[in-house]
Amino acid sequence: MEQLPRKIGKNLYRIRKSRGLSLDKLAEITGVSKAMLGQMERGESNPTITTLWKISNGLRVSFSSLIEEQSPSVSVVSLQEISPLMEEAGEYKVYPLFPFDQEKKFEIFHIELAPRSSHFSDAHHPGVEEYVIVSDGTMEIEIDEEVYPIHKGNAIRFPADRPHIYRNPAPSQTRGYILIYYPT
Ligand code: MN
Repeated sequence: MEQLPRKIGKNLYRIRKSRGLSLDKLAEITGVSKAMLGQMERGESNPTITTLWKISNGLRVSFSSLIEEQSPSVSVVSLQEISPLMEEAGEYKVYPLFPFDQEKKFEIFHIELAPRSSHFSDAHHPGVEEYVIVSDGTMEIEIDEEVYPIHKGNAIRFPADRPHIYRNPAPSQTRGYILIYYPT
């Protein structure tokens, strides 16, 4: 299986070329430095989740389209075989389960939050919604300065076109699933 930085590099290069964008222009619309984008395209950099979202938002492509290869029509997924994206020194892990599908307009991730950790997410494209289902522990979602505690087995839907925070307030690990819906 191809390493993640190589996959990201190929996807980024393909999308940039298909839009006829220079690295300078891509840096301008994403807010990510030209040097970093060049390193990413060469597969020399393992970008953070925040950087990937900046590129996703700037290019108006799904998060998954940056990290996944084309999937077959039947897709069986084993969590053990997915290498997670990590942030906050490994306290926040994202496992891409099902990549974005142009016809279905959603993608699904498994996420893990270490005890008493949190992750800040920038706003996604206009109209994007997130559906979060908590399978273990408790997750607090903060959005528009409101905090929504979601316990094991429960779920929340929220507009994700504004900044939001995922937080685990408990001394044990939190796990769950995120479905991200893209309206266009
Ligand atoms: Mn988000």
